[in-house]
Amino acid sequence: MVETDQRRAFALEVVETLVDAGFDAVWAGGCVRDLLLGRTPGDYDVATDAHPDRVREVFGRSRTQSVGAVFGVVLVHGDRGLPIEVATFRTEGAYHDGRHPEVVRFVTREEDARRRDFTINGMFMNPRTGEVFDDVGGREDLEKQVVCAIGDPESRFDEDKLRMLRAIRFTASLSFTLDPATAKAIAAHAEEILVVSAERLADEWRRMLGECHRGQAVRLAAETTLLEKIFPEILADGEDEAVRRVDALPGEAGFPLALAALLLDVPDSSETCARLKLSNRETDEVVWLVASQNGLAGAAGQRKSRLFPLLSHRWADQLLDLVEAVSRSAGRVSEDVAWCRDLLGRVTRDELDPPELLSGDDLVADGLSPGPLFKTLLDSLRAAQLDGEVQSRNEALVLVRQLKRKRGNNE
Ligand code: ATP
Ligand code: MG
Repeated sequence: MVETDQRRAFALEVVETLVDAGFDAVWAGGCVRDLLLGRTPGDYDVATDAHPDRVREVFGRSRTQSVGAVFGVVLVHGDRGLPIEVATFRTEGAYHDGRHPEVVRFVTREEDARRRDFTINGMFMNPRTGEVFDDVGGREDLEKQVVCAIGDPESRFDEDKLRMLRAIRFTASLSFTLDPATAKAIAAHAEEILVVSAERLADEWRRMLGECHRGQAVRLAAETTLLEKIFPEILADGEDEAVRRVDALPGEAGFPLALAALLLDVPDSSETCARLKLSNRETDEVVWLVASQNGLAGAAGQRKSRLFPLLSHRWADQLLDLVEAVSRSAGRVSEDVAWCRDLLGRVTRDELDPPELLSGDDLVADGLSPGPLFKTLLDSLRAAQLDGEVQSRNEALVLVRQLKRKRGNNE
């Protein structure tokens, strides 16, 4: 059985076990939406009227884990694969920090639907019969292809600010439209998005920018003013251009590349990455791409010592995509990128990034003591090698000695 079938089978088994024990249990939320759209759900969530301690009794304590006792969420582990979240039907009390409810109360399925974010995410399904329970107009909105808050959008975003970004993510990823009242409420509350933790904000952007509908997501964020609140360093007059650049990336572009396209004109992209608490790996890629954006200009006439390190870099493909997107977003075709891609098809890896002629150890053996001069000499040697000025170890040694002497005379 493939993994997705396994997940589905286990989600069915969890529901059946609860029903056999005398409880109401259904699939809930995103998986119902995806099934109704004919898509394969990424994960299945189960909702039930069984209280969390009953859920743990039914499945046994060793197979279960209480993850949010206050929220009534229990993880049920299968023999393999990811556990299933089983949540007791609940309503949520006041939100104290714009993200988390202070208390929850266990309620009926109908009431549970109303605490969910969007109508398309507010449905339940009996997995055995396929019957759908829809108390919030989710089916109709799926048909109309619209993302619409459940209840009064203003108060729903007031309760939980993250929902504003979720609205945009779902609208873009499903290629739906955003309900006008929902969009208006986001614009009215956009400033409050900043109470959401950096990690959660970054997670949403990782997902939005990491998939092919990223252009639409960024456009919606700009229209609802969320973009300027989260990325104030993207100046108002550069916003359209930034959106167009993101839109012009190839579908399979990753998150760091898309973020680099968004941040191309900001003075210090590393600061933005730090604020969003991105990983070092993500930050390094974004910062390198932004810093290298002009590196391919006039590629055909560039010295190899300048061009080849970029083209042999581990993020070279991303750089080519970025430069190409910049041109495309301005309605041009990048001759530099075309030239580089053609070159990459002709040269070998060894020509692009040849093995070094001398190592640091060789310099030591030649009487140089390790120090700041080291790197300078090796860099100069590397450039000479790439430009074809030295080709052998001997020529390399001669050059290094010359350079050393010149340095010595200057000092
Ligand atoms: P996906 O997993 O594809 O992002 P999803 O709809 O499954 O989409 P989850 O974050 O997994 O999203 O949440 C599962 C369900 O829980 C949602 O469909 C929704 O009903 C509810 N939900 C999640 N986050 C919120 C929230 N911030 N406010 C209200 N309801 C929420
Ligand atoms: Mg989900």
